Amino acid sequence: MKGQINVKTENIFPVIKKFLYSDHEIFLREIVSNAVDASQKLKTLSSMGTFKGELGDLTIDVKVDKDKKTLTVIDKGIGMTKEEVEKYITQIAFSGAEEFLEKFKGKSDAEQNALIGHFGLGFFSAFMVSDQVEIKTKSYKPQAKAVHWTCDGDTEYSIEDGDKTDRGTEIIMHINDEGKDFLEENKVLELLRKYCKFMPVAIRFGKEKTWEDSETEKDKDGKPKRVEKEKDRIINDVEPLWKKKPSELKDEDYNKFYHELYPMNFDDPLFHIHLNVDYPFNLTGVLYFPKIKKNIDPTRDKIQLYCNQVFVTDSVEGVVPDYMMLLRGVLDSPDIPLNVSRSYLQSDSNVKKISSHIAKKVAEKLEEIYKNDKEEFIKKWDDLKVFIEYGMLCDEKFYERMKDVYQLKNIEGEFFSFDEYKKKIEPLQVDKDKRLVYLYAKDKDDQYAYIQAAKDKGYDVLLMDGILDSHFINFLEQKLSDCRFTRIDADVIDKLIPKDEKIPSKLSEEDTKKVKEMVEGVVDKEHFTVETESLEESSQPLTITQNEFMRRMKDMSEMGGNSMASLYGDMPQMYNLVVNTNHPIISELLACEDKDKQSNILLQLKDLALLSQGLLKGEALNNFISRSIKVIK
Ligand code: ADP
Repeated sequence: MKGQINVKTENIFPVIKKFLYSDHEIFLREIVSNAVDASQKLKTLSSMGTFKGELGDLTIDVKVDKDKKTLTVIDKGIGMTKEEVEKYITQIAFSGAEEFLEKFKGKSDAEQNALIGHFGLGFFSAFMVSDQVEIKTKSYKPQAKAVHWTCDGDTEYSIEDGDKTDRGTEIIMHINDEGKDFLEENKVLELLRKYCKFMPVAIRFGKEKTWEDSETEKDKDGKPKRVEKEKDRIINDVEPLWKKKPSELKDEDYNKFYHELYPMNFDDPLFHIHLNVDYPFNLTGVLYFPKIKKNIDPTRDKIQLYCNQVFVTDSVEGVVPDYMMLLRGVLDSPDIPLNVSRSYLQSDSNVKKISSHIAKKVAEKLEEIYKNDKEEFIKKWDDLKVFIEYGMLCDEKFYERMKDVYQLKNIEGEFFSFDEYKKKIEPLQVDKDKRLVYLYAKDKDDQYAYIQAAKDKGYDVLLMDGILDSHFINFLEQKLSDCRFTRIDADVIDKLIPKDEKIPSKLSEEDTKKVKEMVEGVVDKEHFTVETESLEESSQPLTITQNEFMRRMKDMSEMGGNSMASLYGDMPQMYNLVVNTNHPIISELLACEDKDKQSNILLQLKDLALLSQGLLKGEALNNFISRSIKVIK
């Protein structure tokens, strides 16, 4: 019998091909997942007693025939009667397509994309790569006759009695020229591994070689010989780890699964979170905390999104909060709409709930590890830090949960919560305005001299060397009341935490002025301002500092900060040269009659100060070395 598909539009297939899916390759996922559904339905009917026959082996076969140019998917599921083919394939899908066409007229691309997911047009995606599609099917129902349906991508189709003798459905796709890649075994294998790796019914495709114990041959020790065998290749794991009960799984199982997901990643994950939610949405999955490397590549090894074990995408933007994009693993939810645009996904209320649920679970897991095994938590801190800081910066709720868990690390490598640290540095590191001063260094070695000066005063110095720390410090100052952060080289130590008592100056006001002029004579005024301070005798004679505010603005403009910061980005680096008027060498220099000697010593002192900041480079460094050699001679 020939039928005419009832659509007003002459030929909907070009439209389907053009608009339905931007990714042609997903046709295979659609056809195989229909086969999986049909098999699952039969299992359900069997367990309910509606289907009384033998289930048998339900393995789905995928076959390519290069000569005939066909790609075939064969299942042993429920099959379809003639009426069902008419109803589910011809009518539903075509009316779906028609409705789709109606709706998408005059809509923008984004809106069209958003509409696509609402139409059950999965089967018809086969026409994106086929000149003709055949269905050979036989229903599980007793006495059902086999059916043969053919359609060549036009509005005409034929349906007649078929010759299929066993239960199930065969979808035969006659691949068109454009789709000829899909006749390559490697291409099909790649797609099956991408989309069908965890589908719940076994899928067989081609052969693979394995090494096994021989049943007959023995080696010289009398043990069975290892022989190469060719076996049917099953491409999927029908019960992936996230579907199992956490109580049945060990850490090793989770790690093994992680390496299966990301074979190119050799580090073990730091820990995992097994998700299992029934209400108000359905979500299962496992998320992993990877070891975050300095050179993080967020485009690789991403979270994979599944819908009932069918791979959907690995771009999960919108489904998980941005800062969670650093995580790895699998999310599986039938409640996430498929084939829809990003903007649609982000506005979907289920997706929003899922996103905040994930954030909550991750925070809970971190809290749990911190409470139950602080030692372990601290061991992993360096790897967790970027992630936690990023989350705290982005998400107020995450901040609230993490603020008692966050660890400040000092130069000695000791860890403190905010409360613990506050107790440690009070009352010594409180300035005259009663503000707590958090001293920090960015580099232990480069800033050694400054750190030492702070330690001599009994102060504690934090190590803030993370990539987000300059932002995070600004953020913490707003969050933690009555405190400020100041980098260890932002000023001389006595001024970093100003106290009421002042150290009296040994020099008169006039001499102080002379000292200032004398030092100004040997510095480059574009980059340095000279300041005189009456510091302790034991402090360095000359110290180079960089104003905290200016430096932060510069740091932020480098990281692409706000417009205020970018204004500072264009300014030259400015430093202060602080002269300790109480240092004996300064009074000696002032008294020195030999002007050459005076300026030479000054240059030497200035260069030493620059050297301890890591600022002496190139020609200046060379000059310093030559000068030093002369002094030694
Ligand atoms: P959807 O799967 O979203 O319902 P499809 O266009 O992919 O949309 O399929 C339409 C219908 O055709 C299915 O709902 C199912 O009833 C039927 N169908 C498709 N493939 C098979 C199959 N392999 N076995 C049995 N029924 C099938």
